[in-house]
Amino acid sequence: MTSHTTSCKIIATIGPDTSNAKAIEQLVLAGVSVFRCNCSHGSLAEYQERVKNIRKMEQKYNVSLGILFDLQGPKLRIGPFQDKKVLLKEGDSFQLDMTPTPGDKTRVCLPHPEIFSALKPGSTLLLNDGIVHLRVEKCTPTSAQCTVIAGGELSSKKGVNVPGVKLPISALTAKDKKDLKIAEQLGADFIGLSFVQSPDDISELRRLMKSKAHIIAKIEKPSAVKHLREIIELSDAVMVARGDLGVETSPELVPVLQKQIVSGCRRAGKPVIVATQMLESMVHNIMPTRAEASDVATAVYDGVDAVMLSAETAQGQYPVQAVATMRRIIETVENDPRYHKGLSVFDHTVATTKERALTIGAGVVAANIDTANLIVTFTESGSTTLRMSQQRTGGIPILALTPNITTARHLSLAWGVTPLVVENLGDFDDMSNETRKVVLAQKLAKKGDCVVITAGIPFGQPGSTNLLYVLTV
Ligand code: PEP
Repeated sequence: MTSHTTSCKIIATIGPDTSNAKAIEQLVLAGVSVFRCNCSHGSLAEYQERVKNIRKMEQKYNVSLGILFDLQGPKLRIGPFQDKKVLLKEGDSFQLDMTPTPGDKTRVCLPHPEIFSALKPGSTLLLNDGIVHLRVEKCTPTSAQCTVIAGGELSSKKGVNVPGVKLPISALTAKDKKDLKIAEQLGADFIGLSFVQSPDDISELRRLMKSKAHIIAKIEKPSAVKHLREIIELSDAVMVARGDLGVETSPELVPVLQKQIVSGCRRAGKPVIVATQMLESMVHNIMPTRAEASDVATAVYDGVDAVMLSAETAQGQYPVQAVATMRRIIETVENDPRYHKGLSVFDHTVATTKERALTIGAGVVAANIDTANLIVTFTESGSTTLRMSQQRTGGIPILALTPNITTARHLSLAWGVTPLVVENLGDFDDMSNETRKVVLAQKLAKKGDCVVITAGIPFGQPGSTNLLYVLTV
């Protein structure tokens, strides 16, 4: 297997049918760099199986794969219905309350007192991914009498959104804390935090974490958009979680917010993921709609680090085809010469730090040597490589060599980066020899080609890029 994937990475959510070794292997070969376990579903035994199989494939194909545990967060849900589901019609009266008995077409349990305390007559509640709309007529601390404004089917345990209302709840529930512990024990590389409302939510998670896993802030609440700059600053990466974002705001605002979030992350040098419904029709169909192909391509043209599949690979009929389709769309965009123009967010005349100046310099040098088709970054913490990735190197791939396996797995998410674990390096000669050995073995360059190297010397001191060198292989 060649170690060079597409520059824009693919994240696949895995489910019961895609957790076994064979399925994971097919997904890796189709182009997945990061696997996502959605903590809303799944048991400890399932998570263990997934992690074991992913790590097995990592070894088999000598690649670094990221594992993301996506915490459910305070996803608010109704209780069960006696007959599993009801059909609500426009104009019906419907009550939400704290009584745990199964519901019917007049009422259902909503076991979240914090919602009732935040409601007022006139408030809107959205259920089942925004399909059913309720208007609150009367409310008490334990119930809300509502009128159905938009009807539809409502089944047990469906989600509830209260758009525009900042709820007095933390982004970490008791279940999240338990799942976090499991994720860290299993060696998760990324922790996704759902329903972030403020920068404090990120700080709270960071305080609780025992591992070096990277935090991915999921932007799906208007209050998170309001504090976007601080949230980006405190997080290691960001996800545009378009499912709930579209319910909490409106579908027509999703593309606008997507652009805003992506450009905020690009400027800050934080990896950014676009997620949800990217190839939704492939849950049942072998081909995507043209609109879906265009949606994936738009995210790629905007320079995102990764695009994500959810139900397509977690419960769809064509998980491998969905990844292969996504990969073909990415490759097609990446082969368009227009793609690379305007992707850099750096102002090349204002390099504010020496690390930035060296990074920009490496890109310019590589672009000006005909035989230099590769940039190699030596990195301990990943920051030298992330800085290079942020520059979007005009289509020149970035090979990240690191002695740190955790860093390599974190870099699996970064645009344009192929991470590889190497032995601890001693000095400059070791670095040159290792580069020659690796690029030839991986067929990333031929004898006589040039590669442009950046590193921080002495090795092992994170965050200090100070070397730019052109090596003839
Ligand atoms: C989303 O809402 O878009 C999302 C990615 O979160 P989840 O799949 O956990 O609902």
